[in-house]
Amino acid sequence: MDPYPPVLRRCLEELQKLPGIGPRSAQRILFHLLSRGGAGGLAEALSNLERDVERCPACRAYRNRGEECPLCDDPRRDPSLLCIVESPGEVYLVEATAEFRGLYHVLHGLLSPLRGVSPAALGLESLLRRIREREVEEVILATPPTAEGEATASYILEILKERVGKVSRIGFGLPVGSDLQYVDSQTLSRALTGRRDLMKAP
Ligand code: ZN
Repeated sequence: MDPYPPVLRRCLEELQKLPGIGPRSAQRILFHLLSRGGAGGLAEALSNLERDVERCPACRAYRNRGEECPLCDDPRRDPSLLCIVESPGEVYLVEATAEFRGLYHVLHGLLSPLRGVSPAALGLESLLRRIREREVEEVILATPPTAEGEATASYILEILKERVGKVSRIGFGLPVGSDLQYVDSQTLSRALTGRRDLMKAP
């Protein structure tokens, strides 16, 4: 017989679906929550996620449903610069460097024929529309330095090079194959300032 009561077993199973959470961590989190009288606040915050949050149709990062986008609608941002990242988490990593005050485009994935990810999934249509409508002068390709990240960057460069004055690539100081989520803020900061102009590269 399972030593856990069914309610706790269900919680453990749900916790273990989270990235980086194994059985031991799930157990630690669960008993921590129980010792503090439950997880009412956490449960309430999470239960409204789908209802209250949506992808911004312009940058594809998240915003409160039907409200202004804290990135696109911020008048202090420089609309001539646009940074392309793989996932929403990377928007906040770039923000933490304070090196970039432009706009973003979140791909929500990388091109991968093996995993069936095609260009249509990356929202490039809406990216091109924005580039036409707003005066974008430079696009920074901040996909990770992995095989899929490089392939995605090359593909986007081909599409953009006739349409934007400058397309650049982060890279300086980033270990090859690294996931940007694990790169520290200083390294990412150097990678942004030391970006290469791909239109000038041989
Ligand atoms: Zn937005």
